[in-house]
Amino acid sequence: MLNFSGKKSVSTLYIVATPIGNLNDFSPRAVEILKEVAYIACEDTRTSGKLLKHFLINTQTFAFHQHNEHRKVDHLVNILDAGQNVALISDAGMPGISDPGFLAVRAAREAGHTISVIPGPDAATTALVASGLPSDRYCFEGFLPHKKGRQKKLGILAEEERTIILYESPNRLLKLLTELETYMGNDRLIAVARELTKTFEEVLKGTVAELKAEFESRDSIKGEIVVVISGNGYTE
Ligand code: SAM
Repeated sequence: MLNFSGKKSVSTLYIVATPIGNLNDFSPRAVEILKEVAYIACEDTRTSGKLLKHFLINTQTFAFHQHNEHRKVDHLVNILDAGQNVALISDAGMPGISDPGFLAVRAAREAGHTISVIPGPDAATTALVASGLPSDRYCFEGFLPHKKGRQKKLGILAEEERTIILYESPNRLLKLLTELETYMGNDRLIAVARELTKTFEEVLKGTVAELKAEFESRDSIKGEIVVVISGNGYTE
């Protein structure tokens, strides 16, 4: 849409962080913005529907997830071009961090729109700080590739001197710990942060062998997990 001076409208794409478990971590500003915008682009409209309902947010939503992200970016930019503001949220935490977001921000910036990030929780830095491992410099790797490139990446990470943060699913935790033992030995300090901000939150820290023994002794491993690994050469 062109405005009266013949220029395209400049709208705002809000990138809004949502809780990683505890709903009380949702900021009043985040709620305010989500109520104000014309549309909310959600990674999963059903998952976000529960959050939006809880905070009495009635704004119209549309799906924006990794399978339709490329196609939906155009739709999102068209809305911004038409002079309407949009907020993007993911299922949990900060959009763009192992979640859809980057493509939308890049396209909206290129189209001349304003980007405004409403910061909030993310599992990576929450786990890092809780781990008690050095947090002055760190390296975030998200999920390691499942197959192709995994071994190579583990080999590279073994040399990394900064604290390393990985996301991992509960059913792959023991496999990952075994791989860390193979590639990094048993001298590293590792923290497994599980269910952060939720009722059964725990952050266990120890050597790979200690953590493997602990998790092998459990009937099952459930919940969401971040693994924080001390950098090469770090000792306590
Ligand atoms: N955008 C999110 C963020 O800002 O952290 C991350 C999304 S990623 C698809 C989901 C992964 O984040 C989970 O598999 C887990 O590794 C981690 N995660 C999310 N919530 C968590 C929590 N409450 N406790 C521990 N890890 C969590």
